[in-house]
Amino acid sequence: MRKSNQSIGDLKARLDAYLRQNHPEICRHWFDEIEPLDLNGGVVTLLVCEPVRRQYLQRTCTSQFTEAVQAVTGRLLAVRFVGEPNGVDERASPPENISGGGFELEEQLVLSPDYTFDSFVVGPGNRLAHAAANAVSANLGGAYNPFFIHGGVGLGKTHILQAICQTALRQRSRVQIGYLSCQSFSELFMSCVKAGRMQDFRHRFRNLDMLVIDDVHFLSKREQSQEEFFHTFNTLYQSGKQIVLSSDASPNDIPDLEERLVSRFNCGLVARVDRPCYETRVAILKAKALLINLPVPEDVCAYIAARIDSNIRELEGSLAKVRCYAMANNVGVSLDVAKAAMSDVRSTFGRSNQPTIQMIIDAVMYYFDIKLSDLMSKRRHKSVALPRQVCMWLARKHTRYSLEEIGGYFGGRDHTTVLHAVRTIGLRRDSDPDICKAVDRIEGTFVHETPVA
Ligand code: ADP
Ligand code: MG
Repeated sequence: MRKSNQSIGDLKARLDAYLRQNHPEICRHWFDEIEPLDLNGGVVTLLVCEPVRRQYLQRTCTSQFTEAVQAVTGRLLAVRFVGEPNGVDERASPPENISGGGFELEEQLVLSPDYTFDSFVVGPGNRLAHAAANAVSANLGGAYNPFFIHGGVGLGKTHILQAICQTALRQRSRVQIGYLSCQSFSELFMSCVKAGRMQDFRHRFRNLDMLVIDDVHFLSKREQSQEEFFHTFNTLYQSGKQIVLSSDASPNDIPDLEERLVSRFNCGLVARVDRPCYETRVAILKAKALLINLPVPEDVCAYIAARIDSNIRELEGSLAKVRCYAMANNVGVSLDVAKAAMSDVRSTFGRSNQPTIQMIIDAVMYYFDIKLSDLMSKRRHKSVALPRQVCMWLARKHTRYSLEEIGGYFGGRDHTTVLHAVRTIGLRRDSDPDICKAVDRIEGTFVHETPVA
């Protein structure tokens, strides 16, 4: 039986409040499930059943929890996280399956409980990668091998890799996973060469059930590491072990990568992740807000998503910024708060001071509350024709695309159609105050005055 006396129960509430106030960046919705067990010998014991969460707390949140425990009790206390009510100190014995038998832990990356399939938002840009990753994690070595995922910075490659690891761990508790950055692989290899410990090195890697290497483009130009990686790859592959790789470029586009590696990387499934569309960006913001327990109104998600389109990490950064601003001013998150907090954030579109067509479309879709598919469709109903014409007018005004190009973009329309749209909106702006106001409002969301130097 778990003993949960009054003061311990109380401690939990005060701990939560302290962390939310002083370290909001580490707080997650699942912190609710952390259960204080006892306070004994100067140590507060906290129960965290899920191994990935527990390890994450130990590795990345111990100092904040220690600070919090000391602050709320006024005593010099330590914290420890255990997996079972009568658990041993996990710092002394990390869960074996995560460490990967025989691995010295420094090289192994820490899995983040934030990076699971549950928290991954699927959209047109990542649908294939997500589906394949799911299949891989459910059937190691049996679905796609190797599974190679590539795409730009901050588009979710690491998230997917970790989700695969976590799903595999949940399904089979004794699975041996090696999850490292390519740089660690390479450094480890070099140090083993120097120390004459290649036997060790090979033994470690070649007995895994799954090898997951992040940012494998790092191998570019590193001939010795490529050579060793090739042999590691072959050994694992031939014994049916799963290999998962991520990279910022497709195998063929990684410069100075040996041909034999290129062909190995291509022999399973190669999936690309693309930049998220507007709807996906909104959905991601909502998911992240939920994860950090932050109530964020719909219009704020829309506002941020319309501003940041290139990189999901920046999207999250903006959310953090808005939260921080709201906390500092002791108010909730609202559109005004978001605008103020992000006043110094140039929209990612605006970096060159030139709106992109995507940005225009996002703004129009949001304003008129219509879908991209409608804008691109052949439908001529007023409810879609007007927004489409506004898009064309704005594209003509703010981008350098020709009439033909703009027509092509909107479902393959003729340049005369675009010209007609541009003229129509131009005229209606002069004669119809509602249209004029709508267009100005839309423009206002993506055109920013250049700050005075
Ligand atoms: P990469 O490895 O491609 O540079 P990451 O996997 O580190 O990118 O992703 C950057 C951030 O964006 C992470 O916090 C990740 O959780 C988040 N992210 C990326 N794609 C998605 C998605 N589809 N759904 C939810 N979060 C995402
Ligand atoms: Mg990454």
